[in-house]
Amino acid sequence: GCGSSSTRRIMMSEPDCLFCKIIAGEIPSEKVYEDETTYAFKDISPKAAVHVLVVPKHHYANVAELAGADAAQLAHMVQVAQSLADDAFHGAYRLIFNTGRDAGQSVFHVHAHVLTGETLDE
Ligand code: ADP
Repeated sequence: GCGSSSTRRIMMSEPDCLFCKIIAGEIPSEKVYEDETTYAFKDISPKAAVHVLVVPKHHYANVAELAGADAAQLAHMVQVAQSLADDAFHGAYRLIFNTGRDAGQSVFHVHAHVLTGETLDE
């Protein structure tokens, strides 16, 4: 889980973080992908035919903090998003990182919104 160690890294979790609890299995989610570092699950309030959240198991507050600390993890999240969209919608998708309360971020564990599965307007 989020607070457990592996041979490669120590996953840091925040006790009051909703997504740390989801990653740890303490709150249920509809998992679509998981590996050693990364978890992906269906958004509870989908904004597209397929709306998946891709998160690092390690807790980072936002995408800038993640990019500064572990750029390879951020790149891996993009590849997971690509792979999901390859399966769902011939590789077409929208990737969104809301950053800061005033930009609509409500959960302060970095997450990539992957919107796909249908033609997207705007
Ligand atoms: P916003 O709520 O404005 O979209 P974020 O960018 O922080 O802000 O996104 C948080 C996302 O997490 C939302 O799309 C919301 O629907 C989703 N969410 C909240 N709780 C859960 C949950 N228990 N399981 C799955 N998705 C969730």
